Amino acid sequence: MVAQTNNSVNKSTDENTLKMSVRSVQKTYRLGRVRVPVLHGVDLDVKSGEWVTILGASGSGKSTLLHLMGGLDRPDKDSSNPASVKFEDRDLTKQSKRALDRYRADDIGFVFQFYHLLPELSVLQNVTVGSMIKHGRLGYGKHRAAAVERAESLLDRFGLSHRLKHRPAELSGGERQRVAIARALINEPSLLLADEPTGNLDLKTGESILEAMIEHRRSAGLTLVMVTHDERIAERADRVIRLVDGVVVEENGTIS
Ligand code: ADP
Ligand code: MG
Repeated sequence: MVAQTNNSVNKSTDENTLKMSVRSVQKTYRLGRVRVPVLHGVDLDVKSGEWVTILGASGSGKSTLLHLMGGLDRPDKDSSNPASVKFEDRDLTKQSKRALDRYRADDIGFVFQFYHLLPELSVLQNVTVGSMIKHGRLGYGKHRAAAVERAESLLDRFGLSHRLKHRPAELSGGERQRVAIARALINEPSLLLADEPTGNLDLKTGESILEAMIEHRRSAGLTLVMVTHDERIAERADRVIRLVDGVVVEENGTIS
């Protein structure tokens, strides 16, 4: 059995509490007989309410690390030096698949570089689907009205209220990413993990997406971990770390 936690306590934005704590994380992919070692012992703390940006060369393992933080994958097992990926007081490496599904639905939002919207659903449905996943098909009925209201409010804030009934294919890249961010925020997560959210967009569009995220982060007290290639975005974060040779290097050059 996985211990139940109290969500009202988890929403804390106290600067001194840790939202996420990653220790000794190693990750090796296996392609048939070929081993592809990516992370070699990553340690990283993210404080509640903090905005941490992750820089690193292409292929350095940024997405891999973000996926591990988002419970989308698990670190390698090493009994002599066990890895941990803690969200608040819960170690994700010890959680069941079902508990990780809950974690993703209840506690975090995840934004992918290539949006991952469902093409057959409208913009509004693409956002409310997050609430449907959280409550389940049967339970969703009770929450539907509130979810639609919140989705409309988020989409309005991101300048998309005239697009509610459109399909993703009818939107620009920037508009699609704003829908994806609204979807990530529908269940009021306390942590947003964003993987190069502006990486696929032109400069001006990227800037407007960033502003929308910053504004939302401020008003919701969100903790933000963002992977980016863009040094100018990185400059605006509270803290910047780099992935180099599979470990975390803080911007002042020290290996944490
Ligand atoms: P980044 O996001 O920094 O560009 P990734 O985390 O996507 O890097 O990938 C790191 C390395 O791991 C790359 O060499 C990539 O090819 C490899 N890799 C990523 N995902 C897989 C996978 N599912 N199977 C095999 N190799 C992978
Ligand atoms: Mg990547």
